[in-house]
Amino acid sequence: MIRLFSFVLPLVLILSATNAKADQLEKQANELIDIALQSKLSWQLLESLTTEVGPRLAGTEAEKRARDWAVIKLTDLGFNNIHVEDFTMTGWERGMISVQVGAPYSQPLTAIALGKSIGTPVGGINAPVVRFADFPALLAAEESSLIGKIAFLDGTMTRTQDGSGYGLAGPRRWTGAAEASRRGAIAVLVRSVGTDTGRNPHTGGTSYSDDAPHIPAAALSSTDADQLARLLALKPELQVHFTQTSRILGDVPSGNVIAEITGSKYPDEIILIGAHLDSWDNSPGAQDDGSGVAIVTAAAKIITDYGQPERTIRLVLFGAEEQGLLGARAYLAAHKDNLSQIMMVSESDFGAGRVWRMDTGIAKADEPKADRIQAVLARLGVTKGLRTANGGPDVSVLSAAGVPAISLKQDGWNYFDIHHTPNDTLDKVDPADLAQNTAVYAAYIWMIANIEGGFQPPSKQN
Ligand SMILES: [Zn+2]
Repeated sequence: MIRLFSFVLPLVLILSATNAKADQLEKQANELIDIALQSKLSWQLLESLTTEVGPRLAGTEAEKRARDWAVIKLTDLGFNNIHVEDFTMTGWERGMISVQVGAPYSQPLTAIALGKSIGTPVGGINAPVVRFADFPALLAAEESSLIGKIAFLDGTMTRTQDGSGYGLAGPRRWTGAAEASRRGAIAVLVRSVGTDTGRNPHTGGTSYSDDAPHIPAAALSSTDADQLARLLALKPELQVHFTQTSRILGDVPSGNVIAEITGSKYPDEIILIGAHLDSWDNSPGAQDDGSGVAIVTAAAKIITDYGQPERTIRLVLFGAEEQGLLGARAYLAAHKDNLSQIMMVSESDFGAGRVWRMDTGIAKADEPKADRIQAVLARLGVTKGLRTANGGPDVSVLSAAGVPAISLKQDGWNYFDIHHTPNDTLDKVDPADLAQNTAVYAAYIWMIANIEGGFQPPSKQN
């Protein structure tokens, strides 16, 4: 009896201490939710960034001002180890655009250059247009079938809560220039990748392939893509005059802004929370990604006021996300020897819609811990999600390198109405939705930074 007692009692004490810590963590997370829902900080940060810095194209003086803005704010808010990690990138300038339909239907169409596109020759391109109803139709077109033509890549985009419509519609913008050029096209006009029916064209990055000539690429607004489709139905040999003065520049500076809350017990275990500072140049980037910057910064600040976490929380405000995750790649290159220190990555970069689902990219054995976190966030409407999380655009570079990730998925139902358009402005953000995001992140970061045992990557399956 005594021997049994001496064995069982320490075990019971250990288990009850673990349970007590879990209960305490849950209580603290709920307190942080209450505080964050009352806080105006994320809104104040978003208003300040979008008003005082405005549009902040990667590699420009405006993006530099955004870094300076971030350093000042993070310093004022009392973070540790604030610094900028510089890198260089290839610059790009948008220039002017004109898309004019030729006779007998002469009229202008609303369009915008795709990011990183080259310009047309001086004086523009005057050429017939070949319409493809969707991207697979272009891929099915024969080699040389577009010689001397402008390819018009029409299509649709499905409105979805999880943003999956973007993955389906995106290829016409991402690789349409390369695919059209491979078939002989001299320019490409894509229907905007967006869900609105307005006359605002959506910009966004395009890319070229080394095995095909680089050709100018632009997006038509969805309404004017419909207009062009009707005009081509009336006159298939219709010509369009397309002029664009975009330019690829040389090396220009960009950088990632870093700030930390040093952990009390495990300072070398890092919870990396990201967002990106750059935006496209046609809007102040309130949703993409001013909201993310505001959400993660405010959540971390609410934690510093609340107490010191056991693990270190590292904020990374990435530069040059829009032009191909350039800040993320620079971060990986600079920190590749210390990736094992990073215990979790998460990024807020999908606007300001409410967080509704928690996806995980962690070892199966750690799923019960993630379930406990999700159970606390359920109060804010967060459901259990998929097991395929990469953490978000920039930090996907780190999760692909083997770091555990959790994605706090935001409601994207309306996101692609204004994504990459001039309408990505402060008034489109709902303060209550922004506060919900801040509350989710404050509670989530606190629990991740204090939970017993931490997390392993999905590769450590059992
Ligand atoms: Zn973004």
